Amino acid sequence: MGNDAIEGVAARYWHPLDDGRIQCDVCPRYCRLHDGQRGLCFVRARSGEALVLTTYGRSSGFCVDPIEKKPLNHFLPGTPVLSFGTAGCNLTCKFCQNWDISKARALDRLQDRASPTAIAEAAVQSGCRSVAYTYNDPTIFLEYAIDVAQACRERGIRNVAVSAGYMCAAPRAELYAQMDAANIDLKAFTEGFYRKLCTGVLQPVLETLEYIRHETDVWLEITTLLIPGHNDAPAEIEQLSAWVIDHLGPDVPLHFTAFHPDYKMMDVAPTPGSTLARAREVALAHGLRHVYPGNVHDEAGQSTYCHACGTRLIGRNWYEITAWHLTPEGACAACGAPCAGVFEARPGSWGQRRMPVRLSREPRARI
Ligand code: SF4
Repeated sequence: MGNDAIEGVAARYWHPLDDGRIQCDVCPRYCRLHDGQRGLCFVRARSGEALVLTTYGRSSGFCVDPIEKKPLNHFLPGTPVLSFGTAGCNLTCKFCQNWDISKARALDRLQDRASPTAIAEAAVQSGCRSVAYTYNDPTIFLEYAIDVAQACRERGIRNVAVSAGYMCAAPRAELYAQMDAANIDLKAFTEGFYRKLCTGVLQPVLETLEYIRHETDVWLEITTLLIPGHNDAPAEIEQLSAWVIDHLGPDVPLHFTAFHPDYKMMDVAPTPGSTLARAREVALAHGLRHVYPGNVHDEAGQSTYCHACGTRLIGRNWYEITAWHLTPEGACAACGAPCAGVFEARPGSWGQRRMPVRLSREPRARI
């Protein structure tokens, strides 16, 4: 005792331990906290005899993005998505590409204060079809994400989770009950990678992927950032592809994206395009139908093809839709084979634009 109370809203998924500590049960870290302590994610903290979420209602910023940037290639293509995140993360990836947000300790990055209703209204006003919980992981701010998602659904706005999938079963079920699509990072296919580079564990991520695919109606896509020398060995790509086809089936799109030196991994070279192309070939050879290179310009690779006849169904130039050969029902216009995904009669026309949105601004504060 003796600590100043930490401000926040009541958090869910925790229980008291016999030794007087409180255990957070949101992710497999199971942080055990004395009063005044914060979990590894920094944003869930013990205040007195309860756990609180310190970032409820606060964001690191809002931006309207193309949905393809999440990346989601089979979910309302061409439409704008209102993206936001908070601060902190429950993994510690040395290669984090959003480390200024995920590693934020002083929460003075959280300049925007936004209620769930305000976010949902902003999505409507800006013409967005969905809201994405992204930049950092909605796992750690699930109470806020769920409230925003409910406000969005009331207004016909859909919800997109961009997550590492490192989450326990009960909170996962509650979060994904409110989601319509998800892109889950499968960061590698070895426990050693997760342990050494993320201080995490692979198995719970695989469980999340199977859960979303088989236990929900959430549209699922997967992203693997290929880091030279760490997770790009041909044998590992083979194993990852084999697991996806065996456990999730051929229709889950897989994005192999290019690494750029960042955060604590400045000494590793960027991923060559040839590595992405080779990984794509391996995954396609295993039977996956939709495999995309990311963070590089590859119009042929980033387009969607009919698995039955090979017709190019959706052309993409970066995030721009350049061709559309789907029927209004989402089938190949040439042969009629259905393409897995969530499609409408026509694609959106948002293009590549990124449009920052300001909801409200308040003086910078540290909490
Ligand atoms: S969500 Fe945060 S506090 Fe809870 S177990 Fe994970 S890292 Fe720890």
